[in-house]
Amino acid sequence: MKHDCHYHPGDPAKWHCGECQLHFCARCMPDANAKQRRGICPQCNKAMRYLGAATEVVPFWHRLGAFFRYPFHADPLLVIAICTLVPALAPRNLLGMLVWLLLALALMKYTYAVINRTAEGHLKPPPLAEAFSGSGFNIVILQILVFALMGGLVTAAGLLGGPLLLLLTLAFVVLALPASIMVLAMERSVGAAVNPLNLATLIARIGSPYFLLYGYLILLVLASGAAQDFALTHFSEWVSRPLAGFLNSTFTLMLFHMLGYLLFQYQEELGFAADYQDAVEPEDHHHRDRSQRFDADLDMNLKDGNYDRAQTLLLEQLKREPDNSLRIGQLYRLLAARNDIRSGSPQ
Ligand SMILES: [Zn+2]
Ligand SMILES: [Zn+2]
Repeated sequence: MKHDCHYHPGDPAKWHCGECQLHFCARCMPDANAKQRRGICPQCNKAMRYLGAATEVVPFWHRLGAFFRYPFHADPLLVIAICTLVPALAPRNLLGMLVWLLLALALMKYTYAVINRTAEGHLKPPPLAEAFSGSGFNIVILQILVFALMGGLVTAAGLLGGPLLLLLTLAFVVLALPASIMVLAMERSVGAAVNPLNLATLIARIGSPYFLLYGYLILLVLASGAAQDFALTHFSEWVSRPLAGFLNSTFTLMLFHMLGYLLFQYQEELGFAADYQDAVEPEDHHHRDRSQRFDADLDMNLKDGNYDRAQTLLLEQLKREPDNSLRIGQLYRLLAARNDIRSGSPQ
């Protein structure tokens, strides 16, 4: 849902007051704290809901090029290189197997970090350390469990309800697979990721763009398969195996970045708020001086036509700082506009 600021049409809303049913942009809320999601409504003084980037996110179908460029940054390329080249060079024994397994785990962990980070608004890939450090390796085991449960569900449907139910269940599982991966990445719960109600709700909230994404995912998988096939048939095994692995991993990162972006784009519908994280902070947010709040209040009152209130605000402010030339100028312009200037020579 796209909402503009009530006072600045064309500017995306960042805050919403449920009490006044008004949307405010960042300019109207210079004193709000977006990091902590705390903002007080300037009209009714009640806490407002932070909308994050929900109202300004570029839809995923407008940034397909960015999805293709995503893996081609230093960090993901290094992760992919380590995880596909080292196993190729490792000795073919138990130790080599262990190295292969550990690196496969690291790559999977990195892949799931891509979903989480993208959903939080990081449009640049996670750092290299994300693959090899800390906890979070259990996501791989959880994903295997989800696949096993889904396989079990399809088998059970076939045994209990015959071929028709088998096909219907299979169709649902295949269709809901991206939704399931998204839910697992965000909630880290096998139960939530296989709950059909949960998955159907997610798909329904996103609506038809889910199926558009699904089409793109199929195209990506096909392209990845064709590229790997080309590598395997045109190069010697020494080159083709790592190359195919490399292609597989880059396409997987694109795919997971897309899934994460779908969450980011539909954050409002899915019930969370996130904002673009990679942009450089334009100014020091700790330095929130009150004059910005005053300017925003004045602007709102003027736009609402509350000229008396605007005049009172300015007069009160001038009692506190009688030498503030900016406020004197504002008051003068307001009075002039209201045709309320007592000229020096009374009639
Ligand atoms: Zn505004
Ligand atoms: Zn309000």
